[in-house]
Amino acid sequence: MKPMGRWRQPFTPAVRIALGMVSLMVTLVLVAEMFTGYPSDRGELVRHHHAQVAHALGLDVASALSTGGQGAPQLQRVLADARAREPRLLSASVLDTQGRVLGQVGNHQQGWHLEPGASSTLDNIRIPLLVGGQRWGEVQVVMQPLYPTTLAGWLREPLVHWLAFISVVGLVVYSLYLRRVLRHLDPNAAVPERVRTAFDTLTEGVLVLDTVGRVMLANRAFTHVDGQDAKALTGRDAADLRWLLDSLPAGRRNPTPWRQAVHDKAPVLGVPLHVVRAQQPTLRLVLNCSPIADNGRVRGCLASFADVTELQERTERLRVALEDLGASQKEIERKNEELTLLATRDALTGIFNRRSLMQQAEQCFADARAGGTPLACIMCDIDHFKSVNDRYGHGGGDQVIQGAAKALSRGLRLHDFVGRYGGEEFCVVLPGSTLAQAREVAERLREDTAANLGASLREHPGVRVTMSFGVAELEPAMADPASLIDLADQALYHSKKNGRNRVTAWRTDDTDTAGACA
Ligand code: GH3
Ligand code: MG
Ligand code: MG
Repeated sequence: MKPMGRWRQPFTPAVRIALGMVSLMVTLVLVAEMFTGYPSDRGELVRHHHAQVAHALGLDVASALSTGGQGAPQLQRVLADARAREPRLLSASVLDTQGRVLGQVGNHQQGWHLEPGASSTLDNIRIPLLVGGQRWGEVQVVMQPLYPTTLAGWLREPLVHWLAFISVVGLVVYSLYLRRVLRHLDPNAAVPERVRTAFDTLTEGVLVLDTVGRVMLANRAFTHVDGQDAKALTGRDAADLRWLLDSLPAGRRNPTPWRQAVHDKAPVLGVPLHVVRAQQPTLRLVLNCSPIADNGRVRGCLASFADVTELQERTERLRVALEDLGASQKEIERKNEELTLLATRDALTGIFNRRSLMQQAEQCFADARAGGTPLACIMCDIDHFKSVNDRYGHGGGDQVIQGAAKALSRGLRLHDFVGRYGGEEFCVVLPGSTLAQAREVAERLREDTAANLGASLREHPGVRVTMSFGVAELEPAMADPASLIDLADQALYHSKKNGRNRVTAWRTDDTDTAGACA
């Protein structure tokens, strides 16, 4: 199974927490520095120091002026010495009361911002010069500001060195410490290695979840589907796994099956998952969630993911094959029906052919013998059919044969049947009918055919075509249905002989005596 996606944290949880704690510590140090002066009241110390430097310089300048006078070389040397001595002194300038510069060191114009008459600040300090008890001029001193204004300046700051030191040491110490502590809290560590190995050997994906659905353990088969390693999954809410949530059936997303199992304290089984993956075949999984109980209290849930993709594909193929088979079976049945029809029916008229008629007659004969019930048979033949053929062609003759079959069929009761016995000869079998009843039927058929058969010749309406009928009934001496048909045929012959378009009903006795029972 191919992974769903990859998402990694850049740092371990221990380092992430340590970073947070170091940031907090640095912030606290800076706040303390700003508002309470702790660890050092830097502003006050610097101000004091600057005042001392400026004061000393003022004294030195006054002394140089009183001994050497204005423009004395000593003045310039005093300024240069002071700057060399004091690294925080950026520039200094000595001015008389008219504002003339008597001596200067450093780039004084850049650092001096005080307006004339304004009081000294932390880094711009003016010292009045009194020579011989008279105001003589002033010394302007530019000191380094309290905080640096450039990055290089900041990097030289002891406070920055201090913060960097505590950050690095804090990070290392916190990380090591938290790693030890978190190992005890890590749910991964809580699961014994042999249990993990056992889970990893399962081919099914397995998640052990806590009561709110957070992952406590994910086995290797699950990480193969998900794409993240087990450690990255640990502690995450299973519902945050987008692919998993999207794969659930619509009605199963809220609550999720694992939350449901915990809530109901009962397994939720057989939830189908449809995992749609980009450029890969869709995975079909079955999710089973069972609550994990401890002394009757539900502690979490075991969710297993069985991959049934192949099984379902096979089942689908089998279903299609079965459908195809069913269709072919239906086709075969249809063909069989067709064949049966072809084998049992006469092609021209659609009524039973002679073979089928004889089979049916055999059955009726056996039933009548077994039940002691009557059975009758009518043989029918179209009169002067040769002349129909001669006059209206073979096609016309066929139309008359079809018309006769139709007329005979519609004149029968439900359990009677008719078949084409020969060219234009038909045989009607009437189970349960006596000779007298069959004779009545034959008479009805005769009337019908005499009145309507001519109309079968579609191009020659009005031609009269009749049929002759011979009727016989089952007699005790008869060994088979052929004997019955034979007797009816003899009666038919008699009808023909006596002028056609008539019915003759005979018994053997009648035949023997050439009985006239017509
Ligand atoms: P009868 O009144 O004595 O029965 O005289 P008939 O002319 O009908 O004589 P018969 O019954 O012997 O006639 C049979 C004729 O039926 C012979 C044959 O040419 C014709 N025939 C047989 N089968 C068919 C068929 O399928 N179609 C057509 N058109 N004629 C057929
Ligand atoms: Mg005939
Ligand atoms: Mg005939």
